[in-house]
Amino acid sequence: MITADGGSRMGKKVLYKSLVDESLKLAQSPPEKVLIFRRGLDPDMPTVAGRDVDWHEFAAPHAGAQVPCAWLESNEPSYILYTSGTTGKPKGVQRDVGGYCVALASSMELIYCGHAGETMFTTSDIGWVVGHSYIIYGPLIAGMTTIMYEGVPIRPDAGIWWKIVQDHKVTVMFSAPTAIRVLKKQDPAYLSKYDLGSLRHLFLAGEPLDEPTHVWIAGALKKPVIDHYWQTETGWPILSAVPGVEQTRNKFGSPSFPVYGYDLQLLRESDASEAGPDEKAVVAIVPPLPPGVMSTVWGDDERFVKTYFTTFASKMVYATFDWGIRDRDGYYFILGRTDDVINVAGHRLGTREIEEAVSMHANIAECAVVGVADALKGQMPLAFAVAKDTSTLASPEGRKQLEKEVMETVDRQLGAIARPKAVHFVTLLPKTRSGKTLRRAIQALAEGRDAGDLTTIEDPAALEQLTSALAGK
Ligand code: AMP
Repeated sequence: MITADGGSRMGKKVLYKSLVDESLKLAQSPPEKVLIFRRGLDPDMPTVAGRDVDWHEFAAPHAGAQVPCAWLESNEPSYILYTSGTTGKPKGVQRDVGGYCVALASSMELIYCGHAGETMFTTSDIGWVVGHSYIIYGPLIAGMTTIMYEGVPIRPDAGIWWKIVQDHKVTVMFSAPTAIRVLKKQDPAYLSKYDLGSLRHLFLAGEPLDEPTHVWIAGALKKPVIDHYWQTETGWPILSAVPGVEQTRNKFGSPSFPVYGYDLQLLRESDASEAGPDEKAVVAIVPPLPPGVMSTVWGDDERFVKTYFTTFASKMVYATFDWGIRDRDGYYFILGRTDDVINVAGHRLGTREIEEAVSMHANIAECAVVGVADALKGQMPLAFAVAKDTSTLASPEGRKQLEKEVMETVDRQLGAIARPKAVHFVTLLPKTRSGKTLRRAIQALAEGRDAGDLTTIEDPAALEQLTSALAGK
């Protein structure tokens, strides 16, 4: 395991080592060695003799070493990246070497228009697929310099990213809509303060790009802002404009067209037939999948086939689990997930995983987590929980305390990104007679929408409780 003593966020230190130590105690196959890069953030960091190795001591004898290329068969795995789905157990997306390199190299040239000797700035971090593909491998394969940025876009001030573009003559920039929504709230003067002459395009992905945000950033930058759509599974864009091949008009709210290599179809959920223009359907990829797309679920080929290729009984196609439409001009629009995955500030989270994390608290008997619309982050998790010992809930302070503890439990299990916006305590969750939680109804009520057909509900009292909880009663 390779880690650092800590990182920093909004000027606050986040210490990693104690988290690593705790997780290694729980691991079934802990690594033999832990290599630690000390940034001086945790002077009192405890170490485990014989296991923990200091980066500087380890690396010093190898400084300047030339490491020869290792030649691999193109289907050899390159990495595994875990991502969420409908179950509480994340899937290990396995990628190959050859196909991935080909896909990234071509996308650097044809989609991102980045050239050797230039600089790319992708504002993600390397733990997510965007970081793997376009902080590390993509720009380096293209012979570009890559910038890794730790922190938020508004510290020390909201001009920091544009200063980076100016100082490092960035030609390609890649970010997420949430970050742009954060910047939109700041003084627009920051955008005209720096010379952005080097920048060709700004690419945005990871979540829907709403029209006001798109209009604002394109107007402020006076550069093309390209919305493009992809997934951890694909490793590179599925839908995008391809400015290295031809200039196409942007339509707000649309990531444009299927990228070369993808045979995309919009299939009716009922019978897998192809949907007509402007008709909502499931976005599917007809195999063979393009180079670079996952080759299997790590250690579980059967799960790969079952998860991704069995949505339609009559057609073996890869399901993206996204709803989409295509308009009469051929532009695609993504309308949200078909499954229980939610998207928080461009981060993908399974509601089942958050439910499992909430349930780790000793006083939680049962819970339901749904994603609710959020103006800044796109969506946020909201939890409804049934406590085992309800005496703690008798006072408002007791409720607050339990809510805080549940949130801390989620932080520990999944990280602060998954922390619910609120935890509402109820004694009953809305379920069908067969015991399935009515998540869509809960989500609709939490967003103030009509809950739809509720005839299958076992006990209507659960709905009353939910409504009262949401109203803060
Ligand atoms: P991840 O695997 O974390 O990259 O999440 C992939 C999911 O994010 C997709 O299945 C979509 O639901 C959503 N997504 C990614 N890019 C876009 C986009 N440009 N527009 C709308 N949704 C997007």
